[in-house]
Amino acid sequence: MAVLDIILLGDARLRKKSKSIRRFDGKLKQLAEDMVETMRHANGVGLAAPQVGINIRLIVVEMPEEGFEEDPNAGKLFVVANPEIVRLRGEKVAGDEGCLSIPGYIGEVERQPVATIKGQDLNGKPIRIKATGYLARIFQHEIDHLNGVLFIDHIDDPAKLRRIVYDAEADEYYEEPVAALMEG
Ligand SMILES: [Zn+2]
Repeated sequence: MAVLDIILLGDARLRKKSKSIRRFDGKLKQLAEDMVETMRHANGVGLAAPQVGINIRLIVVEMPEEGFEEDPNAGKLFVVANPEIVRLRGEKVAGDEGCLSIPGYIGEVERQPVATIKGQDLNGKPIRIKATGYLARIFQHEIDHLNGVLFIDHIDDPAKLRRIVYDAEADEYYEEPVAALMEG
């Protein structure tokens, strides 16, 4: 297992449409393991292969148990090859999102709260997941990555974007507004 480098906003690989996975081999399993380790190391709740510079359709998702005790999927690890959203339901809800490829920023994104996802496991076997609430949000965010879409693309008003700043003296984080939308 290895912690991989996460590429950042501005890297063209984040904007490419990723390729479908056809070979469910040891190399894929190794990448999935490394992505899980990388996500956990960065305290993330999800990671898509393009974020480690590999443009294939693979995501890992793990919502923490803490704070989401009411969701039976909290704390569960999902590794999904060729994920697709087959159904989205419910009225759009605004919620905060960040991204390991855009460190230091949080934005308010509207998404539907119920998602059905289909895909394959690492052996190529079909899987289907029903996600609600925050988990549905994470899946939509990660699947967006496979299409070269970032959460900032869903934000059309700079007032919905905030920068997280660390104050070393006070050893505290605080939020500050941004003047303009981000590009990249
Ligand atoms: Zn992201």
